[in-house]
Amino acid sequence: AEKFKVNRSTISVALDILKGYGIIEGKGRKGTVIASNTWSLMISSSEANWGSYVKSGYFKENLPTIQEINHMEFQKGMVRLGTGELSPKLYPSKMMKDVFVKLSQTVTSLNYLEPLGLLELREILSEKLKNKGIQCKPSNILITSGSLQALQLISVSILKQGLTIYTEAPSYIKSLQVFQSVGMQLLGIKMDHEGIQYWKIAKERKNIEDAILYTIPTFHNPTGIVMSADRRRELFKFCIDNRIPVIEDDAYGDIWLENEPPKPLKSMDEHGMIIYLGTISKVLAPGLRIGWLVGSESIVNRLGDVKMQTDYGASSVSQWILKEVLSNTNYDQYLKETKIALKNRRDLMISALDKYFKELAVWETPKGGFYIWLVLKREISMEKLFQAAIKEGILLNIGSSYDFNKNNALRLSYSYIDEKDIIDNIKKLSILVRNLTKN
Ligand code: PMP
Repeated sequence: AEKFKVNRSTISVALDILKGYGIIEGKGRKGTVIASNTWSLMISSSEANWGSYVKSGYFKENLPTIQEINHMEFQKGMVRLGTGELSPKLYPSKMMKDVFVKLSQTVTSLNYLEPLGLLELREILSEKLKNKGIQCKPSNILITSGSLQALQLISVSILKQGLTIYTEAPSYIKSLQVFQSVGMQLLGIKMDHEGIQYWKIAKERKNIEDAILYTIPTFHNPTGIVMSADRRRELFKFCIDNRIPVIEDDAYGDIWLENEPPKPLKSMDEHGMIIYLGTISKVLAPGLRIGWLVGSESIVNRLGDVKMQTDYGASSVSQWILKEVLSNTNYDQYLKETKIALKNRRDLMISALDKYFKELAVWETPKGGFYIWLVLKREISMEKLFQAAIKEGILLNIGSSYDFNKNNALRLSYSYIDEKDIIDNIKKLSILVRNLTKN
């Protein structure tokens, strides 16, 4: 103990020095305390102090497999058998180069834009939407940073906490996550070949007052199902009669590979009951991060106001690019060619499934979009399949990401994988499934 003896005067000199630096301060009769500035310095300079914060905040973590996919996608040589993007091979380099060259000569400022986004772009979109039977003015359109942001803006700005959201079961993983993060209750409603079985909502609805519907009627993610025209009419009437507002997500509507699908629900909407979402991500470039939301002026203005608080508007560069693409290029021809290429990929994948998966699974041939929903005849551990596939250099999107009860399905995508890799990798996948089925 002798070793640790400190002279009183040493301590009081030390205290004086610390006071001199403002690290501690005298509080009269309360004695000497650590200064408030020092606390904040300690918190921000010490990494360890953030540990308890890392998992707080209202966003949930991504599912582990989705986190893994997000990283592994960028490892060289991985075959992406579930990715919801167009292959880089389908990128229209010449068209985009011309756009970039032109913009480099014509854009004179890259300042912030108005709250709803670039007016010229909204004007073009309002014209294009007429082809889908949607009548709207530029003042009904909000440009968003992708339609995922539209879902976030809706969730944090106009929905009450605890509200029930009916969705198709299964449904698009990221919107499920967004809704859950802000405390909404999700209620998955089963689908059949014609889309969501809306009459099942009536049964669920007994004790629910506030509820909305989130639906992907056309080339649904992940099942590829197209809601029939009759089902659309019935669903729309049901929602009107039961006062259920609708978010219609039309991310894949333009990617029809056979016949044009029925018009969006929004085309029937005279009362502003539907918020309609579109995006350029699936048809051209997710990296632009541009989507659009169509709704009543009051909703669009409210969301535009929140968007200004969130990120001051979607990238103006991206908005100029898209405006140029849609107004001054051969975009329609590009889309036509892209769909021909997608159709070839789809047919290849279907013929590979016919060859290797007949005994193992069932599936429908999608008439558009990117996905084939492969339902295995026997349940196996999807986590094990996911990990076993990674060892083979294949990245999979497993069904439980889209419906927490779905343990026997996979979302296959024919949009990203190289044509030459389709047959081999479907074969490899079938071997993995077979091996796990035996265990
Ligand atoms: N909705 C659906 C149904 C999707 O599949 C996606 C992308 N996977 C999005 C919205 C989000 O797309 P983005 O934010 O890139 O517009």
